[in-house]
Amino acid sequence: MKLILLGAPGAGKGTVAKQLTQLDGSVQISTGDILRGAVQAGSDLGKQAKAFMDRGDLVPDELIMGIMEKRLQDPDCKKGFLLDGFPRTIPQAEALKKLLVKLGIKLDMAVNIDVPRNVILDRLSTRRTCSNSKCQAIYNVKSMPPKKEGICDKCGSPVVQREDETEAAISHRLDTYNKKTAPLIGFYEKEGMLITVSATSSEAVIAAIKKKLAA
Ligand SMILES: [Zn+2]
Repeated sequence: MKLILLGAPGAGKGTVAKQLTQLDGSVQISTGDILRGAVQAGSDLGKQAKAFMDRGDLVPDELIMGIMEKRLQDPDCKKGFLLDGFPRTIPQAEALKKLLVKLGIKLDMAVNIDVPRNVILDRLSTRRTCSNSKCQAIYNVKSMPPKKEGICDKCGSPVVQREDETEAAISHRLDTYNKKTAPLIGFYEKEGMLITVSATSSEAVIAAIKKKLAA
């Protein structure tokens, strides 16, 4: 399958993507992963991207598209791919459309995972992360607390709330998403490729995708 996964931070795109890759061997592709991959591989594009990242600047779209073009031609993409968190803006979506035409790749659909704001707020603001950068185990104070409060089960380091996972920070991220990324939903709707799944469990999202693929 060849899909784009759309959804606010905390909508569960990553979880859905992981489960989908197990169905047919398609690979999960996120902008962060491919940038890190290109930097590690030391390719020309990777070196250029690293210069931006080292300065704390956003990597420009042309560079991201160049790296994406290479990534989509890797052999492991033959079975399919799931774009997770990309495209993020309309210009990226336009560029991706051109790139896919150039590469002769046809997408099956763009899946909009629609989760109510209060569910996302609750999901993310109850998350806690191990402060040990080598461990980074994730907990949830409601559904999966560490055995000893505030202490990581795996390594004994303090378990903390990430700064970008406080309620205020999440609200801000959701507002940014709504402003910048939500217009993509309209873009793919016009392209006739959109399915919207209003579900809070990854199983329900996957069932809806399977049904659409079979149709
Ligand atoms: Zn830990």
